[in-house]
Amino acid sequence: MKKSIIFIAFVFISISIFSQKTYLHCGKLIDTHSGKILNDRTVIVEKTKIVDIQKGFIFSDDVNDVIIDLKAKTVMPGLIDMHVHLEMEFGPTIYLDEFTDNDADIAYNSVKYAEQTLMAGFTTVRDLGGSGVNVSLRNAVNSGKIVGPRILTAEKSLATTGGHADPTNGYRKDFLGDPGPKEGVVNSVEDAKKAVRQRYKNGADLIKITATGGVLSVAKSGQNPQFTVEEIKAITETANDYGMHVAAHAHGDEGMRRAILGGVKTIEHGTLMSDETMELMKKYDVYYVPTITAGKEVSDKAKINGFYPEIIVPKALEIGPKIQTTFGKAYKKGVGIAFGTDAGVFEHGKNGKEFGYMVEVGMPAIETIKSATTTNAMILKMSNEIGIIEIGKLADIIAVDDNPTENIHTMENVIFVMKDGKVYKQ
Ligand SMILES: [Zn+2]
Repeated sequence: MKKSIIFIAFVFISISIFSQKTYLHCGKLIDTHSGKILNDRTVIVEKTKIVDIQKGFIFSDDVNDVIIDLKAKTVMPGLIDMHVHLEMEFGPTIYLDEFTDNDADIAYNSVKYAEQTLMAGFTTVRDLGGSGVNVSLRNAVNSGKIVGPRILTAEKSLATTGGHADPTNGYRKDFLGDPGPKEGVVNSVEDAKKAVRQRYKNGADLIKITATGGVLSVAKSGQNPQFTVEEIKAITETANDYGMHVAAHAHGDEGMRRAILGGVKTIEHGTLMSDETMELMKKYDVYYVPTITAGKEVSDKAKINGFYPEIIVPKALEIGPKIQTTFGKAYKKGVGIAFGTDAGVFEHGKNGKEFGYMVEVGMPAIETIKSATTTNAMILKMSNEIGIIEIGKLADIIAVDDNPTENIHTMENVIFVMKDGKVYKQ
């Protein structure tokens, strides 16, 4: 008897939850397809999806439905960041943490970073490399155990021996070991194939390579090429077999050129990109993920005594400030721009600063928002689900106080976040 009452109550509650709709009254609504800002719209959400969009402010007669008043706000699709590292946040102890932190420590930290990212309005991210804990993080978010953005993860970045993502780079000799494809280190075409297949086995959604030296690794050069074209081709072709695309970290021009010829989909940072390489980007349909915020933050932190190991300081001061200028030039030349910040190199949740930096060097505000929505969704092959507020799409919806075309810094303070139809911030 008791059981059947509980069952009936459960069915009743389930029906009322599932039939509940949310009516969002949007004063301004950004159409990320046309780039136009529409006035006075009602977006109707049921379960995880957008089921209707109507002119004016519509009310429901069903008492179970919820009205959310965003009449004084600007509403847009959830933002997508193509470059974050949810496992970590840089600080002076990070090089020591590698020896003291267990996976569980990394996991607990990443839970906080994932939540901060979602609360900043980023409902989908590409995690471009960590220890592999990011795969479990993705699964925990997807199954609703923790709060965070939808994650597509590269698991562990691929590097060559001594390269930017060699996991024992900079260690003393008896700790160096000889990491191989299993650990993400490749030195031949055969290694390259194995390393990609290992990532697939470990649960990666995409592949990240470090095509050149990097600023924050304990190594001398921040820009030398670190793969051959043949190795990169082996990586991209194998990745394509598994439906994965390849993102390439690159500061130096030669490494970038090889990555493009090798078939990668995005170039990260792109700091020293030449005019010829910009043309090559266009020819090969490769997108530029600038990460201007990381460049600026890293060069600022390098001025603080002891924040980074000594070998990193000159690289940070040289490379960091150049990204914004390169980005401005690439945009004007018509290179495809994807939005990405490298959050984790700086504080998670500050991802929205990137918009202002992009606008500062000539990209119109609405174009920066399109890059963080429709362009990124297209690169992720998720245009049918995210990046636009349209009937049938997932209800990833955010709002800011001001019109970003008049005040782009409003993107740094997202006041409403809905992901998959569920409100996380209001
Ligand atoms: Zn990065």
